[in-house]
Amino acid sequence: PVRLSEAGSPVRSSEAEPPVRLSEAGSPVRSSEAEPPVRLSEAGSPVRSSEAEPSTIRQVETEETSPADSAADRPAPVEPAVAREELHVSSEKTGRRRKRKRIKSIAAQPDRKHTFQKPSTPIVREVKLSETITVSELAKRMSIKASEVIRMLMNLGTMATINQAIDQSTASVIVEEMGHKPILVKDVGLEEEIVNIQQTGQEMQSRPPVATIMGHVDHGKTTLLDRVRNSAVADKEEGGITQHIGAYRVYLDSGCITFLDTPGHEAFTSMRARGAKVTDIVVLVVAADDGVMPQTQEAIQHAKAADVPLVVAVNKIDKTDADPARVRQELSQEGVVPEAWGGETIFVDVSAKTGEGIDKLLESILLQSELLELKAVTEGSATGTVIEAYLDRNRGPVASTLVQSGKLKVGDFLLAGNECGRVRTLLDENGKEVQVAGPSTPVAVVGLPSVSAAGDNVTVIQDERKAREFAEQLRSRAREADLARRTRSLDHAFAQINDESPSEIHVMIKADVQGSAEALAAALQKLSSDKVKVNVVSHGFGGINESDVQLAKASSALVIGFNVRADNAARRMADENEVTIRYYSVIYEVIEDAEKMIKGMEKPEVREQIVGVAEVRQVFDVPKFGKIAGCLVMSGAVRRNLPIRVLRDNVVVYEGELESLRRFKDDVDEVKSGIECGIGVKNYKNVTSGDRIEVYERVTEQPGS
Ligand code: GDP
Repeated sequence: PVRLSEAGSPVRSSEAEPPVRLSEAGSPVRSSEAEPPVRLSEAGSPVRSSEAEPSTIRQVETEETSPADSAADRPAPVEPAVAREELHVSSEKTGRRRKRKRIKSIAAQPDRKHTFQKPSTPIVREVKLSETITVSELAKRMSIKASEVIRMLMNLGTMATINQAIDQSTASVIVEEMGHKPILVKDVGLEEEIVNIQQTGQEMQSRPPVATIMGHVDHGKTTLLDRVRNSAVADKEEGGITQHIGAYRVYLDSGCITFLDTPGHEAFTSMRARGAKVTDIVVLVVAADDGVMPQTQEAIQHAKAADVPLVVAVNKIDKTDADPARVRQELSQEGVVPEAWGGETIFVDVSAKTGEGIDKLLESILLQSELLELKAVTEGSATGTVIEAYLDRNRGPVASTLVQSGKLKVGDFLLAGNECGRVRTLLDENGKEVQVAGPSTPVAVVGLPSVSAAGDNVTVIQDERKAREFAEQLRSRAREADLARRTRSLDHAFAQINDESPSEIHVMIKADVQGSAEALAAALQKLSSDKVKVNVVSHGFGGINESDVQLAKASSALVIGFNVRADNAARRMADENEVTIRYYSVIYEVIEDAEKMIKGMEKPEVREQIVGVAEVRQVFDVPKFGKIAGCLVMSGAVRRNLPIRVLRDNVVVYEGELESLRRFKDDVDEVKSGIECGIGVKNYKNVTSGDRIEVYERVTEQPGS
């Protein structure tokens, strides 16, 4: 078979390719395998040829054109007898008889056998573009060579390889350049489809609340979690910040509460940013000896934004300088008003240290949750969210998951993020194996092929084949998105070569656990100012390896190792390529350093300040000096070494500097307001009386000062 090149001249295609015919718009349609190949008639409309034909004209297949649609849209036939037959080509019912007849009728026209005519009008294709598309796929959809697309991209200033993904807007420019019509499609539907295959219509039952503890650093979040659970998490942490995410349940006579253990607010926000809503109630810890602090306000804002109610734990009431009333007062000013004061928020005085008030706090959380009437489907396939994931030396990838509906069972086939696998083992918060986990239960899932990311959706899909299909689609989408992002950051790196003071910091984060990586990424991105943007090129967990360094180099990124180190090869590569790696173990130190870096990068602002203005009264010709303007300093002071402007009727007529500044016969450095002086303007002889000489200086303002 032969297909059309761009110019319409025939190109021999590989024999293995199935034949394709043209629809009205010129878009090719794959014909059924049994069908003979098709060639073009004079006007470009297709003519079916016999199987025995040596040369048939065909086009490379483009996307998603259904044979049925195109058959129905077929244009008015040029060769009535043949084309009428074509109208029925894709009809299932026509069957073999018709096909045989058609072959006969074509064979009966020997004169048509080797004819080939160019289409008289250029083919305009409708090219569907998802949010990202690889260069090769785009080329295929327009039936041109990938090298052509690469060349066009280069003209647009983008370097891309054949397998690289480009974004929708770039792709659409290319499509338009080629004279085709871009159809932009949004990548939705897959998630919906995944949700749809979940069993619905099941009865809802009440479920335990999921609580997250938030508050200012050192106000006692970890100690409180610790007290509630009776384990020693606080001992293990470094720098006063909870760095690992976990979850556990607490049982009371009146019910059960699931506590999420998050590093401050970042994990909460980054999970929310990924569309994962896991928290029902925020327990806001405020130290009674310290009151409302910046992170307290931040926590209130986060909870409000997520529409999650607060329960306030006024902590450290055992301390002598504790002032719980002040905390109530300050929080009221933030809009968090205690019930006792006519507000809606439950306040409980506690001491995480002595245990005082803890029971009451837990009861209050349950009370608050009753108002929320939390419900979930308790039977059927489970859905949930990954809270934390890590690689266990013995068990392999572990995804700590909060089940949110249905029952998660050992043996279930599940899709977590874009990976799927069978649940081999389920472990509860005490490391005990369990067979089933219902709504609001955190479980460690063992059996997934790789480490998930916090915030990943978890869905049980009993049909393994379907699950794998979904996973593959999600993966390829993620791959394309990632490639598109890398292309962008690479472009950006090039763009910055000539820019001495870049306006963007690229960072790459590797942390010991995904939760910390996400928390850091969110915190760093938040530091972006008007002048300097923080771009997190990638964030992940595990040691820093060569491919990380490669990516960092490609994106001119700084590598942040949080509780992780680079291996030898990576270290060597980083040295050779001048990639900076910095190690940290405390989140605040990273943020502090980044803040400093941003300050350093912000271009200082230069402002002009008028120092003095003098009015020219008379101009003299002085031997040796040339023209000297006799002036009276009207305001400020005239200084010898500063730049000046000459203004005539308030319009700048000259910009330059002073050549001389004199009082009587003496050279002076400064003449103050109200005093007369002689001014010689360098390289300007046209000063006249009535002109004003403005003396100014440039003041450099350091950012943040
Ligand atoms: P986080 O940063 O909010 O997690 O705070 P931590 O739980 O690490 O607590 C910070 C410090 O406050 C630690 O030294 C705790 O021992 C102390 N602390 C926490 N709760 C209480 C309390 O109720 N009373 C007293 N006296 N100290 C407390």
